[in-house]
Amino acid sequence: MAIATVNPATGETLKTFEPLNAGEIEERLFRAERAFREHRLTSFAQRAALMHRAADLLEADRDAIARTMTTEMGKPLAASRAEAAKCVKAMRWYAEHAEAQLADEHPAPADVKDSGASRAFVRYRPLGTVLAVMPWNFPLWQVVRFAAPALMAGNTGLLKHASNVPQTALYLEDLFRRAGFPEGAFQTLLVGSGAVADLLRDERVVAATLTGSEPAGRSVASIAGDEIKKTVLELGGSDPYVVLPSADLDKAVRTAVTARVQNAGQSCIAAKRFIVHTDIHDTFVSRFVERMSALKVGDPMAEDTDVGPLSSAQGRSDLEELVDDATRRGATALCGGGRPLHLPDGWYYEPTVLTGVTDEMRIHREEAFGPVATVYSVDGLDEAVELANDTSFGLSSNAWTRDAAEQERLTRDLEAGGVFFNGMTASHPGLPFGGAKRSGYGRELAGHGIREFCNATTVWFGPEE
Ligand code: NAP
Repeated sequence: MAIATVNPATGETLKTFEPLNAGEIEERLFRAERAFREHRLTSFAQRAALMHRAADLLEADRDAIARTMTTEMGKPLAASRAEAAKCVKAMRWYAEHAEAQLADEHPAPADVKDSGASRAFVRYRPLGTVLAVMPWNFPLWQVVRFAAPALMAGNTGLLKHASNVPQTALYLEDLFRRAGFPEGAFQTLLVGSGAVADLLRDERVVAATLTGSEPAGRSVASIAGDEIKKTVLELGGSDPYVVLPSADLDKAVRTAVTARVQNAGQSCIAAKRFIVHTDIHDTFVSRFVERMSALKVGDPMAEDTDVGPLSSAQGRSDLEELVDDATRRGATALCGGGRPLHLPDGWYYEPTVLTGVTDEMRIHREEAFGPVATVYSVDGLDEAVELANDTSFGLSSNAWTRDAAEQERLTRDLEAGGVFFNGMTASHPGLPFGGAKRSGYGRELAGHGIREFCNATTVWFGPEE
């Protein structure tokens, strides 16, 4: 894939970039290691000051970077601005909380004594240079939620961003440089995915985090496994959205629409499979279809657009294949099901609701990365749980019920990294984020995220001390 900005609203190539050559990559690896030696010795207070400065700069740049993101990957401008604001919040969260999250841990006195120590504790030390392989769908947020904890922990970062968001990738490097982080502490590598294997095998790269598709995760994890390097993987999802009779149906429908079409449906944690109790199924479906059909699809630069184009021609044709396979095998599109006729240019797709989906259809098993919802009817909680778990993914899950026993049961049984009741899954700097099953492993955000790339060092003092 060429490294280029191609506007998804028009298909026009706006800017292309030469990938880095071997010498340029070597230079950056050298700088990353040199920066780590300096950065690891700084105090939390010094790092926090730099992180707050980066947050201030991003706040000031919010409109400009929002336009760049929208131009590169097509999300509506308001969503780009909100994404930048969320990044500012996460940077400040880590500036304020990193020290406490990485404070020394003191084991129980009885265990310290039993180990023969006069005293012992655990210290979280940085690991070194971490490679981040990132996707385009939240081009700023996905990176910041890695970079803020990594830099606050004393690590250095190398970003291999998705090839279609090079300007956002370069902006991020510039942002941390302007904030005053040491030269090389956070660098963008404009390289294709073919360069990742050699980077992972380089001894100056000590660990990797990847957010993206299952095949990319498998490739990175297997090379890192071969090199015995730690990885965190945040992969795809096909999150269930269970609606039970005690739900506030109006709210459940309104939220369902946002949960499915945010970012034109190109979100790993978007609700994708709507599992609705028979008693309320028909009402849910008619209100859901009404709202999905009323969404404004169009120019992502327009302030009143709800759904922009998909990020690439390939992304749209993958989605079309899934929908066509389902309808060919008997599913019904109650709305949408194709390209909007009034938007001949750009990679738009209509918000779509499918019913009659069965397990022979690809969409039942695969992730629909676009504004396409599947709705299923179930007779009760057992069937809802079974269907919700009938997927190889396990990123997050959503359930609408006001019944405490049902909430407890779903918390126990839904196979996912999150269970969100009476709302939709959303990430927050203070809450851990990550998946189960083929959605990956490890956690980002909160204390869990910052500790992933730390060496939890046991420090033990003998009895004579
Ligand atoms: P993708 O094709 O896997 O790309 C993601 C990143 O991985 C890009 O930087 C890409 O580089 C790189 N890459 C691709 N193949 C690779 C390989 N074999 N070895 C090393 N790097 C490789 O995924 P995408 O289409 O951009 O994003 C969609 C997927 O990401 C969906 O499945 C979505 O659910 C998932 N996602 C998950 C989360 C989460 O937090 N769990 C968040 C967002 C997205 P190039 O661009 O150069 O190919």
